[in-house]
Amino acid sequence: MNLWRKWIEKLKARERARGYACDRCGAELFDYPEHRLCQACEDFLEETGNPFCDKCGRKTCTSGVCLGCKSYLPRFTKGFSTLVYRGEASALVNRMKNGNPRLALYFGERAADYFAQTMPAQQLLVLPVPTTAARKKHRGYNQAEILAESVCERLKQRGFDAALAREVLVQTRELSKQKELGFTARAQNVRGAFHLQKRKILHGANVLLVDDILTTGATGSEIARLLKGAGANAVYFLTVAATPEENA
Ligand SMILES: [Zn+2]
Ligand SMILES: [Zn+2]
Repeated sequence: MNLWRKWIEKLKARERARGYACDRCGAELFDYPEHRLCQACEDFLEETGNPFCDKCGRKTCTSGVCLGCKSYLPRFTKGFSTLVYRGEASALVNRMKNGNPRLALYFGERAADYFAQTMPAQQLLVLPVPTTAARKKHRGYNQAEILAESVCERLKQRGFDAALAREVLVQTRELSKQKELGFTARAQNVRGAFHLQKRKILHGANVLLVDDILTTGATGSEIARLLKGAGANAVYFLTVAATPEENA
């Protein structure tokens, strides 16, 4: 068993050991592990719903393509995001990033279910958006990797031929703070920050790129550019939560 497998099994064992309690409020759960949050807490999380952007998947005011995608069309084939990144959903996603990796198992399943609602079962190469070694060491984990693991397992249950590939993408340098930047600045910021280690398996592959949050889509777009350059057929970008279009 490799180190990653061991680590994931430990994480799952820890989750089982802590009993059947909601990860947000601690209420007892009776249908665990189907639900890892109680119904009340699940209802607090705002789903993307309709309408959403045909390209990046974020919640929008009207159907079609969002304003962001209209000015800079991302290079990925299509984005999917199950929740709106604000309120309780953003609080819980931030908890997943900062100290509660178990939540990534829950969010991964939820994201996979959302993807499987609209996409037919198919062969997919599941890739987590990488982080730098220094950042991973500081945090203790890369939440995108746990999300991708969970997405992959769930998609297999849904009839997909999904395979997780953690070593294809690497991030070679730290990004400067992206939060306040628009798409162009972000696109420049992420340009050249990622590198492909294994190009061969990408040829003709349908890739499912997995990350926690979609903001401008610049990171997903830059990685999609690389993946398509290596011959990937389609690059789907699956995130847990996306910032909504303004006023949506
Ligand atoms: Zn709860
Ligand atoms: Zn969009």
